[in-house]
Amino acid sequence: MVVQYKCPDCGADMAFDSTTGTLHCDSCGKNMNIEEMDSSRANGKESHTYKNNQEESGEAHNHQEEVNEYQCNNCGAVLITDKDTTATTCSFCGAAVVLSDRLSGSFAPSLVIPFSINKAQAQDAFKKWCKKGRLTPKGFMSASRIKSITGIYVPFWLYDLNGLGTANATCTKVRSYERGDYIYTETDYFDVHRKVSLNYLKVPTDASEKMDDKMMDKLEPYHYQDLKGFQMPYLAGYLAEKYNYNDNDLFHRVESRVQQYVDNYISQTIYGYATTAYHFKDINIRKLKAEYALFPVWMVCYDYKQSEHTFAMNGQTGKIVGKPPLSAGKIAAWFTGISAAAFLIIKIIAILSGGPIL
Ligand SMILES: [Zn+2]
Ligand SMILES: [Zn+2]
Repeated sequence: MVVQYKCPDCGADMAFDSTTGTLHCDSCGKNMNIEEMDSSRANGKESHTYKNNQEESGEAHNHQEEVNEYQCNNCGAVLITDKDTTATTCSFCGAAVVLSDRLSGSFAPSLVIPFSINKAQAQDAFKKWCKKGRLTPKGFMSASRIKSITGIYVPFWLYDLNGLGTANATCTKVRSYERGDYIYTETDYFDVHRKVSLNYLKVPTDASEKMDDKMMDKLEPYHYQDLKGFQMPYLAGYLAEKYNYNDNDLFHRVESRVQQYVDNYISQTIYGYATTAYHFKDINIRKLKAEYALFPVWMVCYDYKQSEHTFAMNGQTGKIVGKPPLSAGKIAAWFTGISAAAFLIIKIIAILSGGPIL
């Protein structure tokens, strides 16, 4: 089912506005508070024409896999979508379109962090970030090379986890002192036991096949004070994807991450010893809950020397990740600069310590 938002005052297309956090009409300026919208209206169950070739059935679950062709309610154009797309814009009339059947059943997100950085701000921030890259080739910084900048809601799982850690270690304290002609070393041995139970809430992992895991991890942190109960209008005007991996598929990723946290915590509680030798350590991570959430990401495609570079920006905080190409010439110049400076310092020291000059 295709959901589109029409302005109740003037009938124009509405889209989510990251500055006000509302559903906004560009033509008359009307803003609608999404949290106050009645959910049948927000999620398009009301009067919209139903234009795909499937009958609506209780099994939202099964039928969502089968629908692949959607039509724009505005202009009738066929919407070109990837199988994982859940929100897009009509390439003919530009209207924001949400595909509600791909956001239902087990694919219904429970939480969302809405975009708070708009396209113009994202573009400006990216230009500024480019200028800082002193080692990139000349001409790379030109903002005109930005090929596309796309706001995407990326699917994430947020895990609540419990980490149970047990460790036994032998630790030592060493004291040495001199008496007469002898140096004495005294070693005390301690049996150290630790048992900890730690809860971690909402540990995120991206669940999209298309997104590079490392890049997504680096976009963290997301601030959870902006987490909202999911409503479809937040997606209006953006691209959105559904998950390719369920929470069980990705558990091993958060498991190893949180194992590390518990391990570090145990190490931090054992201090004041000269040596620590573990002879037993067991860390067990248990899933308490996993919630499906959508997080905002700006993807920037950048053209340089016939190849494309991709950068990602956290759509909530503006943090940018990605690797610009390095210029060999500039790196050489940079190192020459450094060695010249180092040489200068050595010379000054030589002069200061050389008596005759004073
Ligand atoms: Zn309007
Ligand atoms: Zn259209």
